[in-house]
Amino acid sequence: MIKTHFKLILIPILLFSLMACDQQPTADAVQTNYSKKMWSFISEMPKVELHIHLEGTMYPETVSILANRNGFDYFKTVKEVQQSLDSRPPGLFGFLQHHEKQVSVLQTQEDFYTVVYDFLKNCKDNNIVYVEFFFDPQIHTSRGIAFNDVLDGILAGREAGEKDFGVKSELIMSINREKTVESAFKMLKDAEPYKNQILGLGLDNGPEEGNPPAKFEAVYALAKNQGYYLTAHNDVDEKDTVEHIWQSINILHLDRLDHSLNAMEDFDLLREINRRGLCLTGSPVQRTTDPEPQEIERIRFLLQHNICVSLHSDDPGEFASGYLSQLLFNFQQSGKFTKRDMVLLMLNAYEAAWLPINEKKMYIDEFKTWAETQGVNIGEHYFNKHKL
Ligand SMILES: [Zn+2]
Repeated sequence: MIKTHFKLILIPILLFSLMACDQQPTADAVQTNYSKKMWSFISEMPKVELHIHLEGTMYPETVSILANRNGFDYFKTVKEVQQSLDSRPPGLFGFLQHHEKQVSVLQTQEDFYTVVYDFLKNCKDNNIVYVEFFFDPQIHTSRGIAFNDVLDGILAGREAGEKDFGVKSELIMSINREKTVESAFKMLKDAEPYKNQILGLGLDNGPEEGNPPAKFEAVYALAKNQGYYLTAHNDVDEKDTVEHIWQSINILHLDRLDHSLNAMEDFDLLREINRRGLCLTGSPVQRTTDPEPQEIERIRFLLQHNICVSLHSDDPGEFASGYLSQLLFNFQQSGKFTKRDMVLLMLNAYEAAWLPINEKKMYIDEFKTWAETQGVNIGEHYFNKHKL
């Protein structure tokens, strides 16, 4: 009662003061207000994350904790990790230089547990309702860590994280493309006892030159027979990347394409991607030294041409763009995308997810209902053109 009375007095006073000052809000104030509302819209959006590497989710704080836990003589402080991140040369090579050094701090089952558990907590904080995440066994087994230790740690962390944070997650096991075909076959063999716990097979790392998708044709054929969903990275602007995307769909018979944004350079390829109902997982990441998120215009082009492209954080611990809410917000602000654009991009992620059909429909219905409460009505027709 007291509160209501107070409001009744306060509102006229505020109105009077505004009128008396005859003050129009400044352009900056309008922009700030708009940005605040957009941040609420994006951070509250129920999200799907499909392109995120477990080993790249570690923040410098976690890297430093694990480095000390395991007695390393580098990355002992957060500052040291951050300096290494800030001084990376641009491009895939520079990224991998730091990434591989950072990965080495992961040593035990407990370390993998810690990283998965922290990662799922961050997913909850970003309103991610479903995540499919990559892990790279070969980068660990080649350092003498047992495949079972990697998997047992990940699975225990996932179980605890799902229980505590309610985030549903699935695993994509990635081949390191610079390693041999025999090594990839061995990884598949090692994974056999865990097959029911691993949903998909991916291909990442580098360099891509000399390690095209076709190199792993026989491995992918076996994985398809074993029931894995299939995807592979074609990083942006790598040598022969358009040819590699063609190989990905014609030789590896992928179910989804990671990055692969250079497809926009070949209209026959885009038509084929659409005909097969394939989706592209884009990642407009941003380093501290980047003036804006990468790949804004390529993603805009693909969205405008009705290609199923979605946005993902890739390695949130190693980029200034961070986890999905921040990445989406940076992307929206820099590219001046509308709320509808952002909803369409997220719907593409839902569509690209490897969920059972009924479950996917349920997630999509819930997401569309949420979008309607935000004033964005997509209608029924949107998904008819892609496979669902
Ligand atoms: Zn990636």
